Amino acid sequence: MVMGMKAVRLHGIADLRYEDIEAPGAPPPGHVRVRIKAAGVCGSDLHNFRTGQWISRTPSTPGHEFAAEVVAAGEGVPWPPGTLVVADSRVGCGTCPACRAGEANLCAKLGFVGEVCDGGFAEEALLPAAQLLPVPAGTPPEVAALAEPLAVALHGLKRLAAPKGAPLLVMGCRAIGGLAAFAAGLRHEGPLYVADRNAERAALVAQASHATAIALDDPSLPAFRHALEATGSGAALTGLLPRLGAGARVAMVGLFHGPVSLDANMLVEREISLVGCHAFADELPEAIALAAANASALRALITPDVPLGELPGVYERLLRGEAPSLKTLVRP
Ligand SMILES: [Zn+2]
Ligand SMILES: [Zn+2]
Repeated sequence: MVMGMKAVRLHGIADLRYEDIEAPGAPPPGHVRVRIKAAGVCGSDLHNFRTGQWISRTPSTPGHEFAAEVVAAGEGVPWPPGTLVVADSRVGCGTCPACRAGEANLCAKLGFVGEVCDGGFAEEALLPAAQLLPVPAGTPPEVAALAEPLAVALHGLKRLAAPKGAPLLVMGCRAIGGLAAFAAGLRHEGPLYVADRNAERAALVAQASHATAIALDDPSLPAFRHALEATGSGAALTGLLPRLGAGARVAMVGLFHGPVSLDANMLVEREISLVGCHAFADELPEAIALAAANASALRALITPDVPLGELPGVYERLLRGEAPSLKTLVRP
């Protein structure tokens, strides 16, 4: 008998459906069948819904930021049922120089869970064990599901490489910026500033990160040497440049929706470095440990319990900018 399950699937641009589909069967060798416990909605999910940029197969079940419980493990996988796991969202080719160097985020053929294979916006999923990592027992699933975006935030901070004690600015307080500020608040020993057009969101992140929320046009601010750009807004980026000191370094984490025009001489004459940061490299285990160790503080930043069937409506609300917290998670 074929068992059914609920899933939310993308059928094309702006066509997301809550529907009954076939549940995964017994896992083949090296694979795991999991029950999804919590799954976060990512800006990239919204971007793909709106533009179709990364649709490589339809219909597909999106969702790469999830925590799930092992239901059954295929031959060769040692995890007992009930083990909590999260996904490594990156699906590299495995053979190119970047993949072999452990930098699958730079693979020319890089795809993501939820695009090239079905992801977490469903009751269950079937994935290769190599695409999953176990989480410490007792970690709340909705916090474990933050590990993937937290890994992206940690990668940005690593690429920024701000020395301890140096003033650090985080631009943008949605998920990646907010989590970067949170992680910097835990480990960076210098003054930490956060900025966001939404003052409420900036205040929430500032409080959780022991940071100061600022308005970038405040003339009393110091010139920054280290900034993490997580807005993906051309206006925010060009507004940031005059606030930077000579020799500044900006880690670029936000995804932009088109070309940005800027005065390149501002970079040349003041030796300003813009450093691209894509997904994450080897930061996921560190992110899992960090999430598990700071569960209650992270839980205060999220909207954790949206029913799966409400997801199409949630997409619409998030696209209108109505985000009540850093991250909205569904609970199938
Ligand atoms: Zn994501
Ligand atoms: Zn590759």
